[in-house]
Amino acid sequence: MPTQPNSTPPWSLTTLADEAGPVACIEVGEYLYDLQASLRRAGADAPQNTVLALFDDWQASLELLNKASECVDERDRIKGGARLAPLLYPGKIMCAGANYFRHLAEMGVEGATKDNQRLFFFMKPPRNAVVGEGSTVHMPLDTQMFDWEIELTAVIGKRARAVSVDEALDYVAGYTIAIDFSARDLNRAPETFYKLDWIAGKAQDTCCPVGPRIVPTSHIADPQNLHLKLSVNGVVKQDDTSGDMIFSLAEQIATASRIMTLDPGDLILTGTPAGVGVPRKEFLKVGDVVDAEIEGIGKLSITIQPEQAD
Ligand code: MG
Repeated sequence: MPTQPNSTPPWSLTTLADEAGPVACIEVGEYLYDLQASLRRAGADAPQNTVLALFDDWQASLELLNKASECVDERDRIKGGARLAPLLYPGKIMCAGANYFRHLAEMGVEGATKDNQRLFFFMKPPRNAVVGEGSTVHMPLDTQMFDWEIELTAVIGKRARAVSVDEALDYVAGYTIAIDFSARDLNRAPETFYKLDWIAGKAQDTCCPVGPRIVPTSHIADPQNLHLKLSVNGVVKQDDTSGDMIFSLAEQIATASRIMTLDPGDLILTGTPAGVGVPRKEFLKVGDVVDAEIEGIGKLSITIQPEQAD
């Protein structure tokens, strides 16, 4: 599988759980440092204390983060704590549906071409669906067919409205990993006019883990040439490249931004490669461990929890 040279990013962003609440961090090498303190060392007058706030003026933040990454100090190190989603919370989450050729084929659509397909989006609710790593994802109520979908995820860094494909990637600040957990049985609605129910199938509480970090675009040479791998209890299920996307990330941003304004801190989930459970009638159960890994970004690990009805 073609890969691009990806080592550890120069720096990345994440948010850790601390007793006192979420702590925004800049990650340099193997260490995490308090974001606010590190930005102050880099000369910021009013340093941000959340990752989300960095996207208010991403160009200015980028300069400070580059500087901060070179002057991190041991005294600002943060130890321990589970990783929450790096962004608490994204403004909106746009998800491209059925966007990989081999995934469409495994779902029974033969002969898909770019010309006979139409890019479409659904949404997940940020505050209820987004969680971080660990024991965070609950089985939705009333599903027997809970499935996985690893997704390369772009973080928007600049207001985008009706932008062209050529300039679309200029609006991306960084990349992270999301898992688009899906209740396949609830997604089907043959008795309705529309035949599909995207809310019941995709927008369930805790069904959008994000993480473990946001890496800047400077670290990802080409979002269409990344290796994605998802395993369940150590068994590899999805193992493919973002090169199999039908509509590229740039095309997705161009199309989405004609529907609605994309704002800094929004997420675009770009679709999932082949290897989901439903064609093999394999579904998740409580206690299963799902590891989602994308080249250059890292690994997001979660364990499926029982239903939660309160
Ligand atoms: Mg998906």
